[in-house]
Amino acid sequence: MPILVMKFGGTSVATPDRIRRAAKRVGVEVAKGYDVIVIVSAMAGKTNELVGLVDDISPLYDAREYDAVVSSGENVTAGLMALTLQEMEVPARSWQGWQVPLQTSSAHSAARIEDIGTENIAAKFAEGMRVAVVAGFQGLSPEGRITTLGRGGSDTTAVAFAAAFEAERCDIYTDVDGVYTTDPRICDRARKLDRIAFEEMLELASLGAKVLQTRSVELAMRYNVKLRVLSSFEEQSDEAGTLVCAEEEIMESNVVNGIAYSRDEAKMTLISVADRPGIAAAIFGPLSEAGVNVDMIVQNISEEGRTDMTFSCPTNQVARAEKALEAAKAEGQINYHELVADTAVAKVSAVGIGMRSQSGVAAQMFKTLSDEGVNIKVIATSEIKISVLIDRKYMELAVQALHDAFGLDKVA
Ligand code: ASP
Ligand code: MG
Repeated sequence: MPILVMKFGGTSVATPDRIRRAAKRVGVEVAKGYDVIVIVSAMAGKTNELVGLVDDISPLYDAREYDAVVSSGENVTAGLMALTLQEMEVPARSWQGWQVPLQTSSAHSAARIEDIGTENIAAKFAEGMRVAVVAGFQGLSPEGRITTLGRGGSDTTAVAFAAAFEAERCDIYTDVDGVYTTDPRICDRARKLDRIAFEEMLELASLGAKVLQTRSVELAMRYNVKLRVLSSFEEQSDEAGTLVCAEEEIMESNVVNGIAYSRDEAKMTLISVADRPGIAAAIFGPLSEAGVNVDMIVQNISEEGRTDMTFSCPTNQVARAEKALEAAKAEGQINYHELVADTAVAKVSAVGIGMRSQSGVAAQMFKTLSDEGVNIKVIATSEIKISVLIDRKYMELAVQALHDAFGLDKVA
């Protein structure tokens, strides 16, 4: 029988009633003839509560025990979902990660999936079980310890199961009804997309559109898993939600398909560094060792052997970046005149695979911002994305103006 993966996020399993509602949706797919693998998150708020307990008991915790505690929320919902399905007379049982087994690396709290054994679950399907309910977010390390995949990791569990079982599709049930051209809270003309390409979703996910864990999109792209994002609170239909798929499967598309933003950015400038071979490595090496996520980088033209180097990073990493650079300066690895941090900036990006073949997108973006009187501080581009750093107070305005300028409220 064909296999379908259905993942329910925390808000979709927050109460017994919601679990029953989710189980009903599973029942509909079983009745269509699918064997279903259900991946569940912990009940809404549960994981935060468990993280809080760990912090309370032990601020410098042992990551293995952290994982043992925070993975437990999913065990509860997996059992409750299996019970609900049994109440509906759907043959179902629950599986914890280690029982599957879902093997991961030993990187506790941020483990990577290495292998999913399909035999155990396949054997149960062969015996007539119709639904395997699997606890998301968790796995088993080579040392035999319980691991977790990082916050939001049950999306990644779901996609990995869809790939391992060659599922027809992976449906991600959440509290939003799909992927939007931009955040509807900022721009009331935001439109739900029927389809979006993996590459675009990857950019939007990593830019902070929190619908899907970024790694789940990477995995879906690598294994060509059709991913559908849809709401568990709305009527079910085959066209509901947004399909994340290969670009060949998208017939019509705008040049720009999404405007993303990231509010908490900081711009840091090293003034007057010696412009010599190895200077970038000497600056960004220590930053990377300190765990600073550097995003955009700009180096000015040098004058008399000195140059300015600017980069952006999340605001909450500014202190760490300053410490790493000051230490490198004290040790004589780099030499700069001054380090200036601007923590009142935001990043706004236009994303679209159409940019590969159409020119003029950057020019139109810059013109739009200039018409609104918004000054651009840093620019960075990739094949399908243009990002600018601007003053945070203009962020909403910039998002709205760009959404209008690229006509995102309408289909091409
Ligand atoms: N429950 C975990 C979290 O809140 C995993 C997930 O829901 O994806 O991060
Ligand atoms: Mg999530």
